[in-house]
Amino acid sequence: MEIICSDLEGVFVPEIWINVALKTGIEELKLTTRDISDYDVLMKKRLAILDEKGLKLKDITDVIETIDPLPGAKNFMDWLRSVSQLIVVSDTFLQFGGPLMKKLGMPTLFCHDLSIDEKGRIVGYNLRQKDAKKKTVIGFKQMNYKVIAFGDSYNDVNMLKEADAGFLFCPPQNVIDEFPQFPVTKNYDELKIHIEKALQTVRD
Ligand SMILES: [Mg+2]
Repeated sequence: MEIICSDLEGVFVPEIWINVALKTGIEELKLTTRDISDYDVLMKKRLAILDEKGLKLKDITDVIETIDPLPGAKNFMDWLRSVSQLIVVSDTFLQFGGPLMKKLGMPTLFCHDLSIDEKGRIVGYNLRQKDAKKKTVIGFKQMNYKVIAFGDSYNDVNMLKEADAGFLFCPPQNVIDEFPQFPVTKNYDELKIHIEKALQTVRD
C-alpha cells in the first residue's frame, strides 16, 4: 500500500506569511528562512512583530480567510485523493492552515500549532516534532506504506529523500541546482504524470 505526502505552501496555496505581510502592510513579516536561517529566531521575531502591532490570532486568520488556493489546486487535490490517500504535511500551524483546508475540501493536515492566551494573543509556537516532514515519512514506512512525496522548497528535501519517490513542484532555481536527484515539475499536469508512474512502480 502507498500513501502520498505533500507540502502545502507553494504547492496548493500561496506562502501564508508573505500574504499576511502583503495584506497587513507589515513588511517585516515577509522575512523567511532565507533571510533568517534559524527557524526559532525567525518565528520569535514574527510573533514579536505581531505583538508589537497588537495583532491577535483572529486578525491573522481573518487575513488567511481571504487567501485562495492556487489555480487548479482543488481539482488536483481531488484527483490525488481519488487515486490514493493524501496527507498534507506542512510547517504551518493548525490555526493558520484551518481556513485553507476548508477551501481544499478538508484534507488531513499534519503540521505544528500555536499557543494562544485567553485574550487571543499568539504567545508561542509548538513544533509537532523536530524534522516533522521527514519523520512523517519514516512513520508511514514503519507502518509498511510506500511513500510518494512532493514539495517546492528546502524544507521538503528531507521528506523527499526519505520517500520511495520524491518530486519537486515549481521549486526555486537554487533548490533545483542543489538537489538534481529529484525530478522537477512545473505544473499539476506534469506532477500528475510523475505520480501516476510512481503509483505504478510502488504497486508492482
Ligand atoms: Mg512549500
